[in-house]
Amino acid sequence: MPSKPQEDEAKRHSDNGILYVVATPIGNLKDITLRAIEVLKHVDAIASEDTRHTAVLLKAYDIPTRMVSYHEHNERERTAQLVEQLLAGKSIALVSDAGTPLISDPGFRLVREAAAHRIPIVSVPGACAAIAALSASGFPTDAFVFLGFPPKKNRERFLFLSSLASEEKTLVFYESPKRIERLLQEMIPVFGNRSAALCRELTKIHEEIIRGSISELLESIRERCLLKGELVLLVAGHSAESDPPRRT
Ligand code: SAM
Repeated sequence: MPSKPQEDEAKRHSDNGILYVVATPIGNLKDITLRAIEVLKHVDAIASEDTRHTAVLLKAYDIPTRMVSYHEHNERERTAQLVEQLLAGKSIALVSDAGTPLISDPGFRLVREAAAHRIPIVSVPGACAAIAALSASGFPTDAFVFLGFPPKKNRERFLFLSSLASEEKTLVFYESPKRIERLLQEMIPVFGNRSAALCRELTKIHEEIIRGSISELLESIRERCLLKGELVLLVAGHSAESDPPRRT
């Protein structure tokens, strides 16, 4: 593979292989970078969250590289094996099912261990649902708080939302369609009826952004009976002027 300057630099200081953290599309298969394809073609192995899922991407781009599974249930033992291979000079690309690995996805343990062993780590950036949603949301993006998936248990969820009530930065959540109605409902007494945007199926055929107050989003979801697909929820940060009074 033709080396990039930072990879030359990484190699100069180490006989270890390189760990590439490679972003893949969040829906539209065309949302992959030329560099990601190049890296995936030339590494010794691809560590993938779901090898069947990644196989679709590899087939689309004629990438013959062998895969090994790396997911939340085998992270611990797989990390040790992958670090061993990296220390033996093999290069490995880490990918998740969609978007950027480690962003609400597995990989943290591997990257942390690789860093601890002074293995060069190279990010190959690309799609990320939170960033795609933010960039099209119309909410302030100069500062935001990425919160991933809210806790599922009632009490933890309430404490989690309460801790964010006076946060002034734009709030970014991932949530499943099964729980989105409940989340919006629970937000109103804590946040007030703030502006929000629900970004659904970004980059896919049924892509849409539903904008309005939290209660308008709720209404829109209830009218549809069933909301399907993948969701990013953005909520305006707290601001004394713009927040309508909270219901208690
Ligand atoms: N690593 C991914 C990233 O970079 O965005 C996120 C992985 S997380 C397990 C999956 C969640 O991301 C989904 O439940 C949804 O909240 C969000 N997501 C992923 N793809 C999306 C899309 N195309 N449209 C909207 N949200 C999406």
